[in-house]
Amino acid sequence: MQRINGINEVTNADPSLAPPGKHLVMSHQAVVSDDLAHEIALGLGDLKKLFPDKKYEVLLIQSYSGGWPVNRVSSGSDIGYRTPVRNLYIVGDGAKGKGGIEVEGVALGVGNVMKEMGVG
Ligand SMILES: Cc1cc2nc3c(=O)[nH]c(=O)nc-3n(C[C@H](O)[C@H](O)[C@H](O)COP(=O)(O)OP(=O)(O)OC[C@H]3O[C@@H](n4cnc5c(N)ncnc54)[C@H](O)[C@@H]3O)c2cc1C
Repeated sequence: MQRINGINEVTNADPSLAPPGKHLVMSHQAVVSDDLAHEIALGLGDLKKLFPDKKYEVLLIQSYSGGWPVNRVSSGSDIGYRTPVRNLYIVGDGAKGKGGIEVEGVALGVGNVMKEMGVG
């Protein structure tokens, strides 16, 4: 591949994410140059090579730069959900706790706070 360096088929975990008989596949790629249109074209070219029978449709392309990371803090290295202020907790990407990433990590952090509060 020229650019694609990861693919995951999310319908393996949740088939309801696509109509019956179809799969939802997410493809990830590095953006190596400043020419975003060229980078996207290379990624689409990779998809053509990977799925030569053309039985797929591209639903969405999203891109982000180094100043806009997917995660601000790596799993397990954040400050945690407690604060020095009584009854004030933090949830979100900066307070995920160990073992989670992205939105699933945010949900784990919320779960930890709910346990601490004795709810849920
Ligand atoms: C390109 C990209 C793709 C992603 N793809 C996925 C994915 O496929 N699956 C997945 O699970 N996760 C994905 N993520 C990660 C996911 O978006 C984050 O983990 C999640 O949004 C974090 O939620 P949050 O509420 O902690 O922070 P955010 O969603 O960043 O919300 C923080 C909010 O606080 C506001 N804010 C900041 N400073 C202040 C201030 N001083 N005063 C008031 N408001 C302020 C911001 O404007 C923002 O609205 C992706 C992220 C990016 C960037």
